[in-house]
Amino acid sequence: MTDAFDVTTYQRVVLFTGAGLSAESGVPTYRGAGGIWSSYPWQEVACEAAFERDPAGVIAFHRLRRQAVAACAPNAAHHAIARFLVERPETVVVTQNTDGLLERTGCRDVIELHGSLWLVRCACGERPHPDADSQQQRCEVCGDWLRPAITWFDDAVDVARFEAAAAAIAGCDLFISVGTSGLVYPAASLIEYALSEACTRVEINPEPTTFSEHFDRRISGRAGEVLPGLFASGAVRTS
Ligand code: NAD
Ligand code: ZN
Repeated sequence: MTDAFDVTTYQRVVLFTGAGLSAESGVPTYRGAGGIWSSYPWQEVACEAAFERDPAGVIAFHRLRRQAVAACAPNAAHHAIARFLVERPETVVVTQNTDGLLERTGCRDVIELHGSLWLVRCACGERPHPDADSQQQRCEVCGDWLRPAITWFDDAVDVARFEAAAAAIAGCDLFISVGTSGLVYPAASLIEYALSEACTRVEINPEPTTFSEHFDRRISGRAGEVLPGLFASGAVRTS
């Protein structure tokens, strides 16, 4: 069935986003051929054990990641979400991305399930990282290594962020999943949760995912092409 879908008829929207949202910005991928983990095994750069073994090396890797992301610009999908948030501030945006590109378009209060490349933590707490090029490795106050505030492999997801995302899904009438494969858990269990709820569920992705057939509607396309039209005119064709 193909018919028009009008986002403006919904009151409480949750956007659940993944790496595909930033694909058109050129943010390097992690998995697959050419992905970061093929050059930098995560066991050496993206887990707590690696940080304990070699904090300076792990910090240096994340500096490279920040520089790579800083060289990318937010794309039409990020901008469309930012505009939609201005018009509809009750909308909740949940992202698995750590790149901070949504924030760079002015999006506030994004639930960053996996933390951010732009945050670090030490005994003093969590705080913004100075900048992409900073060589700083230790906190000037407590002397701790500045650990990237990212959910690494083998880390538990931040409970408060996960619960905030689940609560938003429980209270929404429209759930839009965009640019995520739904393969990374426990984040993907939030998709399963939305699929068990009474809201309308929409998937935007150029490729089918393991959850595709369970969504109420599917928009096959790139985030940067679909989202501006979806949010501007309110109506797009779905299948
Ligand atoms: P994933 O790599 O598993 O899946 C990406 C999905 O995006 C795929 O289904 C793909 O078909 C789709 N896609 C590709 N181009 C698209 C486009 N232009 N528009 C819409 N969709 C598109 O990503 P994931 O599900 O987010 O899981 C990856 C994990 O790795 C997450 O935990 C995330 O934290 C992390 N990660 C983050 C970034 C980032 O911060 N930008 C980048 C890569 C990976
Ligand atoms: Zn400190």
